[in-house]
Amino acid sequence: MIIETAAAPPFFTNGFVLGCERTRAAVIIDPGDAVDELLAAVAAHRLTVEAILLTHAHVDHVSGVARAKRAHPVPIWLHRDDLFLYERAVESGARFGLDVEAPPPVDQWFVPPGPLSFGDYDVHILHTPGHCPGGVCLQVGRRGEPARDLFVGDTLFAGSIGRTDLPGGDHPTLMRAITGVLLPLGDDARVYPGHGPETTIGDERRTNPFILDWLSRAGS
Ligand SMILES: [Zn+2]
Ligand SMILES: [Zn+2]
Repeated sequence: MIIETAAAPPFFTNGFVLGCERTRAAVIIDPGDAVDELLAAVAAHRLTVEAILLTHAHVDHVSGVARAKRAHPVPIWLHRDDLFLYERAVESGARFGLDVEAPPPVDQWFVPPGPLSFGDYDVHILHTPGHCPGGVCLQVGRRGEPARDLFVGDTLFAGSIGRTDLPGGDHPTLMRAITGVLLPLGDDARVYPGHGPETTIGDERRTNPFILDWLSRAGS
């Protein structure tokens, strides 16, 4: 699978382009401020974008959606429970002093478990609320093989977890999603967070202080 990532100021949100080497079909995940870099990656690999997939609707993950959709007029996918955040994107940006272009209407609601597909790859939809109500993780792999690449938005980070103090956030809900939905995917699953470096489920299971704390409470 072709995986390109880019992050740009002010939020340094990781956006992704995933492409099929054989068919050149592709998806864009979370086009935020790095949308121009993502569109350049699409062109450099001569990919055909088939969908814009949003892990959730916080402004730093959707600020480039309008631009991405102009360049590639394909369906925008979101979980329905994040619509209230999507509709607030311009207002949220303004609170940070940012002039955000209103994202165009959502075309499709994610319905777990999916899958969606592009070329030879399947995208399985995991509903992982807690950072926000409509947060999803996208589990991607070649059709017929175990899907080991996880695009987790702000659910889980290397050594940390998503904040839960924003509207619709809830810490126990997030921890149940991480430990109940993500950890069972296996230690060798690769994790691509919405901010910061890549990690693996195994590394987080062994060293993430939030996960260790939650599991020790659950076990006591
Ligand atoms: Zn977020
Ligand atoms: Zn974010």
